[in-house]
Amino acid sequence: MQIEKYLVEYQPVIHKTFVNALENKKLSHAYLLSGSIGMPLKETAIYLAKSILCDDPRPLACNNCITCARIDEGNYPDLMVFDGEEGKIKKGDIEKITTSFDKTALEEKGIMIYILHLVETMTPIAVNSLLKFLEEPGKNIFAFLTTENETKVLPTIISRTQVLRFREIDRDKIIKDAVFDGVFEEDAQILSGFYNDSNTIKEVTSSKEYEVAKQALNDQLESLCMSPDDAIFSCQKLIIPALKSQDTARLYIKMLTEIFKDLLNLSVNESITLKSYDNILHELLNHVTHIDKSLIMLMSSLKKLDLNVNTGLLLDHIVYEITKEGK
Ligand SMILES: [Zn+2]
Repeated sequence: MQIEKYLVEYQPVIHKTFVNALENKKLSHAYLLSGSIGMPLKETAIYLAKSILCDDPRPLACNNCITCARIDEGNYPDLMVFDGEEGKIKKGDIEKITTSFDKTALEEKGIMIYILHLVETMTPIAVNSLLKFLEEPGKNIFAFLTTENETKVLPTIISRTQVLRFREIDRDKIIKDAVFDGVFEEDAQILSGFYNDSNTIKEVTSSKEYEVAKQALNDQLESLCMSPDDAIFSCQKLIIPALKSQDTARLYIKMLTEIFKDLLNLSVNESITLKSYDNILHELLNHVTHIDKSLIMLMSSLKKLDLNVNTGLLLDHIVYEITKEGK
């Protein structure tokens, strides 16, 4: 994804703040990038770090110099990235930063940067170590922290950082931009429910996971329009075998959730976002009852998926809950 383009188009305040800081040499020693799920927080953190280190900044990273290339390859020892999405950030991770940053920088520039993606996943002991480190920042050490849920970040962390808040983007604009980039309208409509920029939507639509999840969604919706028994049968015979990986199952449940949000809108004569799904939504309305309860159940299913429940059982439970009163 082209982060600079994203920042200019969607987050102009963050873009301007950071450009000014670079131009006036007034960088904060720690930034907290605060946004919501689906926003490119980690990518932005890396890009901003790269802008500090770049050999030929303008004033943001050029993406062409040797340093930019090495950072893109993950081959720049003075930039350390810890990703809370891949597992909780632990005390040992913070110790890795503090011990290596105690020494002098490995690179000529003498600047050391660490990125902690999703600080809300940090263990309490790790947070403690980080606070000590943030209190006494070394010269030429910069930190980029990110969070998808600022309310879960300790105020003591927030007060030691400069917070850059990402703004929510108008969904119609995201859809329009994605379609302009060549994404089919129906894909743009449904994915904009949980991805907050057109570039990510374009990437997702070309993935195998999306192809599988979309087929499963279409199969499930079609069978829901037939009968509860058909819906359960198709879940067991088609959907569960297809959605083997957690990522595809998550994508599928998120898309099904978007369908139910618009079903709820339709049931109370509100306008809908998934205009390309208009026919099937109207058809579904004749077959599906207790839409509100199903919607709540779908949202809690996503949390269960994060707790590593059995994916097949979860998908089975979802279709059972949707169809049970219709039987
Ligand atoms: Zn560069």
